[in-house]
Amino acid sequence: MTNDALSDSLARVRQRLARALESAGRPAGDARMLAVSKTQPAAAIRHAHRLDQRHFGESYLQEALDKQAELDDLDDIVWHFVGPLQSNKTRAVAERFAWVHSVDRLKVARRLSEQRPDALPPLNICLQVNISREASKSGVMPEALGELARAVAALPGLSLRGLMAIPAPAETFDAQRRPLAELRTCLDDLKRTLDAPLDTLSMGMSGDLEAAVAEGATLVRLGTAVFGSR
Ligand SMILES: *Cc1c(COP(=O)(O)O)cnc(C)c1O
Repeated sequence: MTNDALSDSLARVRQRLARALESAGRPAGDARMLAVSKTQPAAAIRHAHRLDQRHFGESYLQEALDKQAELDDLDDIVWHFVGPLQSNKTRAVAERFAWVHSVDRLKVARRLSEQRPDALPPLNICLQVNISREASKSGVMPEALGELARAVAALPGLSLRGLMAIPAPAETFDAQRRPLAELRTCLDDLKRTLDAPLDTLSMGMSGDLEAAVAEGATLVRLGTAVFGSR
């Protein structure tokens, strides 16, 4: 995508988010955009940064580390890791990212906590929930969420901020909303029982942004709507 095209699509997607918030009766700026830049070149991130985008999401560790090295001069980028995370890959994530959205096992959380450098603030964590209960998908099952959340909230190197989900694709607005509403209910349940700064519902992608904002998303993860198709 050219820089001009990226400028246009970023303006369009910002407007789309603003409209979705307005339709949902929510204040402007109530949900933040995470630009999911996986497979996109560092130059695209640099251009989006020039247009005031600060939060970027990556899914593939080596690719992310290469781009971070290339963009080392942009010291106010906030990096989010959103991809599947194996326990042998946690160290670089603990050292190089501010957020991880894809924690679904205590083993991974413990390693991230131990490996988080003391000089950095706690690593912000969203627990990924398998909200559509797909057998092949990552994410903790809703019934196991409470126990995992309690254990993660107690880890010193981490700050448990909320929940993330990637629902099964759905065609209609109402069908899109159902699992997103369930994720919101899961977070509300945790807020009642846990002492943690649970302010984040990471949900909504290019295809279901409006439904997610209607259900209370605070961090929408947009890839193709920003950068074009991968
Ligand atoms: C790729 C990706 C996105 C962005 O998806 P789009 O449909 O391109 O907006 C969001 N979340 C996660 C976890 C992803 O891997």
